Amino acid sequence: MVKKPASPRPGARDKGKELGKELGKELGKELGTPFWRKPLAELSKAEWEALCDGCGRCCLVKLEDEDSGRIYHTDIVCNLFDKASCRCSSYKDRHDHVPDCVTLNRRNVQQIAWLPPTCAYKLRAAGEDLPWWHYLVSGSRETVHAAGISCRGRTGPKESEIALDDYPSRIVRWRGNAPRGRRAPAKPEKAGAKSRANAGKN
Ligand code: SF4
Ligand code: SF4
Repeated sequence: MVKKPASPRPGARDKGKELGKELGKELGKELGTPFWRKPLAELSKAEWEALCDGCGRCCLVKLEDEDSGRIYHTDIVCNLFDKASCRCSSYKDRHDHVPDCVTLNRRNVQQIAWLPPTCAYKLRAAGEDLPWWHYLVSGSRETVHAAGISCRGRTGPKESEIALDDYPSRIVRWRGNAPRGRRAPAKPEKAGAKSRANAGKN
């Protein structure tokens, strides 16, 4: 279990803003506010892609009860999922290999019930700000893992490595919940107090 940091890394939010500005410059824009605070409909394709926090939780296999319609989450990963990086190993041509991989857009993101509650697209669609562990805020791609939000380190077999009949044995509860790490860490008690945070693994 990853230990939740006691306090945010000093200057984490400022770093996030800087990164947002850098991304904005890359995109040829001067940003008054971080791009991720724009409505989803106003994001460019590159900004849309950059919004993903890299949690990888949408790449786990879901099971649906045909009678009740209830969705169960498993720790079985898609065959294209790279467990180490927690990312798709062939994102650009993924549909050549996994035709039913769902492409998120601003319309379906509000309708897909199996997306985790921490999904950045879901949060922004609901008008919520990005959480402290999102790399655009923290300045580190590792905070999503250190905070216990991502599925890195707790995934099971790939789809092709397990028989269909055995899928139900891989049902997990953490997949659909907002993990404890979702909460922002406590602030230092006094100004200048040293952060004991060890959120980044970089
Ligand atoms: S659940 Fe959302 S934020 Fe997480 S990897 Fe999938 S699309 Fe990205
Ligand atoms: S094809 Fe790639 S993006 Fe789609 S579910 Fe599989 S690993 Fe995830």
